Amino acid sequence: MQFHLNGFQSGDPRKCKIAAERLSRDNRCDVIIIGSGPAGLILATQLSAHKEITTRVFEQKLGPLQIGQADGIACRSLEMFEAIGIADEILRESYWVNETCFWNTSEKTGRICRVDRIQDVEDDLSEFPHVILSQARVHDLLLEKMSYGPKSISPEYGSQFSHFEMTGEKDYPISAHFLKLDGQKEEVIKTRFLVGCDGARSKVRHSIGQKLSGQSTLQLWGVMDVLAVTDFPDIRLKCAIQAGDVGSLLIIPREGGYLVRLYVELGELSYGERALEKNITAEMLEKKVKEILSPYSFECLQIPWFSVYEVGQRLCDHFDNGKGTSSSCGFPNIFITGDACHTHSPKAGQGMNVSMADSFNLGWKLAAVLKKQSSKRILKTYTEERQTIAKELIDFDREIAKLFSRKTSWHRKENRFQTYFQKFGRYTAGVETCYGKSILVLSDEHQSLAVGWKIGMRFHSAPVVRLADAKRIQLGHI
Ligand SMILES: Cc1cc2nc3c(=O)[nH]c(=O)nc-3n(C[C@H](O)[C@H](O)[C@H](O)COP(=O)(O)OP(=O)(O)OC[C@H]3O[C@@H](n4cnc5c(N)ncnc54)[C@H](O)[C@@H]3O)c2cc1C
Repeated sequence: MQFHLNGFQSGDPRKCKIAAERLSRDNRCDVIIIGSGPAGLILATQLSAHKEITTRVFEQKLGPLQIGQADGIACRSLEMFEAIGIADEILRESYWVNETCFWNTSEKTGRICRVDRIQDVEDDLSEFPHVILSQARVHDLLLEKMSYGPKSISPEYGSQFSHFEMTGEKDYPISAHFLKLDGQKEEVIKTRFLVGCDGARSKVRHSIGQKLSGQSTLQLWGVMDVLAVTDFPDIRLKCAIQAGDVGSLLIIPREGGYLVRLYVELGELSYGERALEKNITAEMLEKKVKEILSPYSFECLQIPWFSVYEVGQRLCDHFDNGKGTSSSCGFPNIFITGDACHTHSPKAGQGMNVSMADSFNLGWKLAAVLKKQSSKRILKTYTEERQTIAKELIDFDREIAKLFSRKTSWHRKENRFQTYFQKFGRYTAGVETCYGKSILVLSDEHQSLAVGWKIGMRFHSAPVVRLADAKRIQLGHI
């Protein structure tokens, strides 16, 4: 967006003046997005920057997320937020994870003790830190941004996607059906592209014949945001605590300086068992936290949010309806992103980050194709690129989950969780992604022309002084 282009106008330049073109409720559009989680909102925000593209977002919930869910924002996600234009707000409001502590039960004393305190993100990995901000707040910022884009978009709440059919029409080949949860009659919309950002129980995934496969048992996690009084010394630092047989705990301080997020591992669910059936209460989680932190004291004054969250490391073979090289129309036109195509444990903090990265990858490609700036062939690179990355991340997550649960004693053996955490810091920061050879990424035949810039990886920013106006800027931001 460019401001003061057509003469000076007062007001916030981030809010597009031509956003006047409000959402048309036509029964045809270019892109339908199902779901307004982080994956759906990133895609919608990207598309709202193109006034020629008509996008509609359908969400079964009755309104925006208010509280809870994921909260870790990796460096790479902040780079992406910078491109979208919301990084400054996020940096201002968030908790910055600059250091991480590791605690273990000492064999000598039988008490938990700090094993190490390390820098969380290695120097010069990114111009941005790793931060913590509530997913609900990230949603707010994205919702605001997309409503002020050149093509204003706002989610249509209370609309549940039920199924789609292929119309056989050239321009609008997909017809999607929605049930209105306020009892109004079903709505049917025709579209060029359909994107399922509809989470782990995705109907879109099911409709294109894909399934999440992988781990058959699910891990159970208790998560709570608490206002606590404690003498545990590292309560304002991210901590991974392995208290031998008693259990494992992750402490993530929350933005604002008061609340703390606690992740308590509650073991595996047996086949077919659901988290809700376990009847876990906030009091049970608090008791477990006290046991893990003992002999430090820990009293919860308030528990504003708690959830019991079941998760397995699972992945789909294809993230679109193209089944590799061919589909009925020669290129994919139905896609799935985020939890709809892969799920992770919260330990490596990847759920929201990888979901947003999928959509970011797809968003510019859809825009380029719809604006006729690119061949439809680039759409095939979405699955090629993102499925490979998701697989790598799931392998990483599986390993880190195993290590975090392992009962280690730091006197006896090397703490492998910590070593792994440090070694794979680049993964969790989201900057290790490297896409293989495709119509977008050349082979490394010409790598010598770009020494230090690995082909297939994201552009690593550097501080520079712009010659034209002598301003200090980050190269990556322009
Ligand atoms: C209860 C809960 C707690 C979580 N806690 C944590 C946590 O503590 N830490 C962590 O790292 N991660 C957590 N996660 C996971 C993290 O939130 C996800 O990885 C991330 O939100 C994935 O984003 P997404 O957009 O792909 O999917 P989601 O955030 O699941 O969004 C999908 C959206 O699609 C909507 N939808 C689904 N089906 C339909 C339909 N048929 N029609 C219309 N709309 C539909 C849903 O209502 C939802 O809003 C949690 C997830 C849940 C559900």
